[in-house]
Amino acid sequence: MKLDEIDLDSYNRIQLPSLGKCIYCYDDENKRTEEHIIPYAIGENTVSILDARCDNCQIIINKYEQGFLSKQIGPFRGAIGAPSRTRKKKKRLQEHHTHMRFTFTEIDWTGKYIRDLGYRLIPFTQAPLVLPLWTSPPPTILGLPVRAGSEMGESWLYQEKDKLAALAKDVGTEKGAFIVKTQTGVVSREHTLRFLAKTAHAWAAAQFGLDAFDPFLTDIVLNKAHDMERYIGNAPPYMYENMPELGKLVEGEGHIFRIVGGRETIGDMSDCLFTLIQLYPMVNSPVHLIVVGKVKPGFDMDARMLERHGVEALA
Ligand SMILES: [Zn+2]
Repeated sequence: MKLDEIDLDSYNRIQLPSLGKCIYCYDDENKRTEEHIIPYAIGENTVSILDARCDNCQIIINKYEQGFLSKQIGPFRGAIGAPSRTRKKKKRLQEHHTHMRFTFTEIDWTGKYIRDLGYRLIPFTQAPLVLPLWTSPPPTILGLPVRAGSEMGESWLYQEKDKLAALAKDVGTEKGAFIVKTQTGVVSREHTLRFLAKTAHAWAAAQFGLDAFDPFLTDIVLNKAHDMERYIGNAPPYMYENMPELGKLVEGEGHIFRIVGGRETIGDMSDCLFTLIQLYPMVNSPVHLIVVGKVKPGFDMDARMLERHGVEALA
């Protein structure tokens, strides 16, 4: 297995050469631009492929990618001081996202709605951290044991519970409400899983080239397929517990994104080209396993790594 990792504390900017076509639709005629493997909003300029994403694909990808990056994890990124692309944009982001919005309702002891209690805007510096993501069983294509009915997964929420409870208590006192429910974080399965698919595919294309594997994810990336549970899920713990590269990364505060991958037999599938992605490891978030494709018979991944990244990439 060949592993690679991106460490945002020490990663120098890498611009990989063009693959001569769009990495998502494989078209070689449309106008193309540089593609950040990890979106700038998360990873600044860590790694990109030149001349790699056509304008048509960008329009399709942009919708769910922005949904994920802005709506879903935008408040969390704002709260931990994540980067934004330009100064102008940064200013705009701050204007919209200096505060986090929390909405409250009064409920009775059975959980039944009684009345709205309005909302509060809390400055990022004081707001309870809330990160909504998605968690699901391993991808079904691998044939690993998955509890029937759980294949689609469920929302996963990190929240600073003590701070949230204090906030709810405060609102209850002010409004004379006995039990206060706080609405936090919106999660979209669709946006989250398509974002993971797009990132995993782009990373694999950057590492090994498009001719290294038969791709499984391009229809999901381009919104043409919906069977996301087949290729995107959580990694079984044995896959990352035994990876020192992953374990090591947990310690640093600056690590906001982890990605590793390679070729492996997993479950029923041989020559599986996979990627593990973990967003914000510091809150112990799910480690996603994404099955990117099947490595073509006889393909020499070591030779490709040397050719594409030089000897140092292997060290
Ligand atoms: Zn394209």
